[in-house]
Amino acid sequence: MPDFLRWELNAAKSGMPLPAGEFIWSPAAHFLFRKCPRAWFFRRYLAQGGWKESAADPSAHAYLLKYLDHTDSWMSSAAEESLTQALLEIMPFSGPARTDALTEAFQTKVSAHLIRARNELADSSYLTDPKLTSFSELHNATGEYESPAELLGMIQYRFKEFFRLWENSILPQTIAEVDPLAWRLPPEYHQFPIGGIQVSVRPWMYAVYRRTIAAWTVRFTFSDPLAASAYPDGDDEEYGLPERVFAAWCARKYPDFEVEIHKIFISPDGMVSRIEVPLTVSPDFVLASADEMIRTANLPGGLKSELFPRLEDSSKCSGCRFKELCETEPVPPEDETIDGDAENA
Ligand code: SF4
Repeated sequence: MPDFLRWELNAAKSGMPLPAGEFIWSPAAHFLFRKCPRAWFFRRYLAQGGWKESAADPSAHAYLLKYLDHTDSWMSSAAEESLTQALLEIMPFSGPARTDALTEAFQTKVSAHLIRARNELADSSYLTDPKLTSFSELHNATGEYESPAELLGMIQYRFKEFFRLWENSILPQTIAEVDPLAWRLPPEYHQFPIGGIQVSVRPWMYAVYRRTIAAWTVRFTFSDPLAASAYPDGDDEEYGLPERVFAAWCARKYPDFEVEIHKIFISPDGMVSRIEVPLTVSPDFVLASADEMIRTANLPGGLKSELFPRLEDSSKCSGCRFKELCETEPVPPEDETIDGDAENA
């Protein structure tokens, strides 16, 4: 989602109501708001304007933290971007040569990401100048790694292992065999309405052929991707929410086409690939989620940190990129919270 959203800027002004029709909902915003409205406020509001030289400290800090990435998600993005670039690069190839060309180009693109990450980590410039931050920053302030070199070494090792598994799998051949003209690349953000709410669709790498939309994701994870908790009830609308939103967008753009999501998981235990056919997200779900956010965004007097309490159970804060900021920003007085308990929001 782009940074410079007019509605966010308007809504962040003290006392300004959210302009009708300018709210944009996304699965990421839904999950963040549900997990912690305070973190949602930091990301969606406090970070606004943080890119300016004149930005106040909390805003610049929130903006910086917003773009720091965790290792798994950085690796996942680097893999997806690299695969996309590789597919574009091998467009002129046909026949069996495409498979080898795909793997070679994929490896080259991942290497380029690693080289850039090494430079960015070495000088840490992004830690002092928020304008330099990008979607490719690495979160190296967790204390988990003693040095940027150690972090990078771990990433290199995991990518090396990934390519060993990739080359021994059917994946390169399957992807290379998709008609080059069927791919819709590079991936882009899209917006479309569901029940009158504007919804943002994350960029998907996908191909359209034989009345099918085949989208691909690559996810590095340190947990077991097939653990029972990763696959709750089929009725749980939150499960695969980004895929469900993508399916809803496809249903408008390609009516009567079937959507299939090819998920590639890479955990320390190996690589798993599976195909899922997502249901479309229901308008009721989007409306209920959006309504809560809109009501919060329109609180009289504008939004400020002291309206949002910290989570009562701090064990739920692990992995929150805003932890540092959260400790220094004001909290509500004991008897004042918005809409009850943050954990239930
Ligand atoms: S550290 Fe915890 S309470 Fe603070 S913003 Fe993050 S999740 Fe919310």
